[in-house]
Amino acid sequence: MSHLVTDELLKQVSKPARYLGTEWNAVHKDWDENPAHMVFIYPDLYEVGMSHLGLAILYGAVNEQPGMLLERAFAPAPDMEDLLREKGIPLFSLESHRPLTDFDVVGFTLQYEMSYTTILNILDLAGLPLLAAERGPGHPLVVGGGPGVANPEPVAPFFDCFLLGDGEEALPELLALMGRLKKEGWAHDRREVLARIAALPGFYVPSFYDVTYNTDGTVAAVVPNRDGIPARVTKRVLPDLDAAYFPTRPIVPFLEVIHDRIMLEVMRGCTHGCRFCQAGAIYRPVRERDLAVLLGQAEELVRHTGHEEISLTSLSTADYSRVEELARTLAAAYEDRGVSVSLPSLRVDAFSVRLAEAVQRVRKSSLTFAPEAGSQRLRDVINKGVTEDDILTATAEAFQAGWQAIKLYFMLGLPTEGEEDLLGIAGLARRILHQGRELAPGKKPTVTVSVSSFVPKAWTAFQWEPQDVVKVLQEKQQLLRSHLKGPGLRFSWHDARVSFIEAVLARGDRRLAAAIMAAWRRGARLEGWSEYFRYDCWEEAFEETGLDPAFYAHRQRQEGEVFPWDHLDFGVVKGFLLRERHRARAGELTADCRSGRCTGCGVCPDLGVDLRLKGGPVDRAPAGEV
Ligand code: SF4
Repeated sequence: MSHLVTDELLKQVSKPARYLGTEWNAVHKDWDENPAHMVFIYPDLYEVGMSHLGLAILYGAVNEQPGMLLERAFAPAPDMEDLLREKGIPLFSLESHRPLTDFDVVGFTLQYEMSYTTILNILDLAGLPLLAAERGPGHPLVVGGGPGVANPEPVAPFFDCFLLGDGEEALPELLALMGRLKKEGWAHDRREVLARIAALPGFYVPSFYDVTYNTDGTVAAVVPNRDGIPARVTKRVLPDLDAAYFPTRPIVPFLEVIHDRIMLEVMRGCTHGCRFCQAGAIYRPVRERDLAVLLGQAEELVRHTGHEEISLTSLSTADYSRVEELARTLAAAYEDRGVSVSLPSLRVDAFSVRLAEAVQRVRKSSLTFAPEAGSQRLRDVINKGVTEDDILTATAEAFQAGWQAIKLYFMLGLPTEGEEDLLGIAGLARRILHQGRELAPGKKPTVTVSVSSFVPKAWTAFQWEPQDVVKVLQEKQQLLRSHLKGPGLRFSWHDARVSFIEAVLARGDRRLAAAIMAAWRRGARLEGWSEYFRYDCWEEAFEETGLDPAFYAHRQRQEGEVFPWDHLDFGVVKGFLLRERHRARAGELTADCRSGRCTGCGVCPDLGVDLRLKGGPVDRAPAGEV
């Protein structure tokens, strides 16, 4: 243990195991023998960060390479933060307990917008200047990755560079470059280092691009400000997951974390094409892992972790071509060893329920579905591809199989939503409850309706749409609440003010960095936790900086508008998204390219990658009309 983290310090905080770094399978590489050093930071508490599969993958992918090491750090809990500030101790990595400033690269994963103030807090606790422009030769490079880089512009001034897309190959390439630059004596020259990084595929250096604005405040252009910098940066994509690194010796935490189980990634990407879904767009195309590869990985994971549950993870696991074979084989193989199989994301259909029933050794108390909208009209607008029949058949199957609690997820404030769509949510919940009482007589079925608020995101068909103002969202929540009273019905909702800030940041530009900084200075941090979210910090921050949050969240954007993220390329073409927007308005469904024809999103030709399905002879969707 380094001198920074003493027994005395750990005795004064709750859950000291968050800061130990000596968990089962943690990697402690020799600092001097591995000249390229990176710390990967999940900007939230340990329990959240250690549930993140991306961290486990990149931790292993870098540490298995000679000459480089990757350690972890997380946001300290408030009690630890107070102590660090009081005693003047800089934030440290877990494995070697070194200050973050000792590393060559400080990497953050941008999982959600509400972590941005926490990122600033971590930089401050590390003793690093917040703005990239203020960092000098002795400072580490601050790198960002993850889904937030779909539009990193609001945090661009804080970062030296971003990695777009899959990191398994790209991150070791970055560290290999850093190792070379250190050896050649260039590491002190920040501009030279950044120029060399910008030449690596998938890396975006925001300071090499100038943003100009129109008089109405919209972006006029984002253009490179030096020679040799690409006009657009294209995301990295692994064409074949079977050939990619996957961690089979992940770290097993000492304390309970959010997802305390094996996460077996069966595929990456989703082809459903829900029009609000950013993940469904930016992780395309779908690449499945081979069944034999997955079975081999599962065996090693069970052996090396001692976990009692294998979770088959992806954006939509029931879509995996051989999901039934995989789930049943794993359930049978590990039943005797007390290891169960779970499907975290159920599709709204009877097949998913039957599969969950067949493989889940321990019957969970509730089953969750996400119809997203309460009427067929609105479900068609968002391209959900689910009918009321599908929903009722799935819930009937669940009640018959013995589940008594059903949870339903919906989104409020979707484009074109009216009162009848909202009342449709309550009506559907009541029909399901009635069904439960009929199918499970003598039992006490419950239906919980959980609503979030629609946040328009970059790279979706709804990226042009305004978000409902907070008051309207609250009125909609109130309306639903009044219609979801009575025995057996439950209602929960998210704070609409959080969704509003999320919407401001999700489609914001570089000017918003000033507001993020002002909000942090006023005490905003750990805002993914409702108990720490402080709306007043944001209200004051917008006032101080003169930035109008409504301009970002509530404005109807013009179809010809240049977006702050237009110089980034995630493969999906803007013309496709625009067409999807028009189809949404017309209530037209667009087919899933997994089983039908290619619907022309542009990802496969743009990135030179095909769909990789493992279910049959057709490995690629044929080209054709929607
Ligand atoms: S290019 Fe076609 S096949 Fe490829 S992900 Fe897009 S819609 Fe599907």
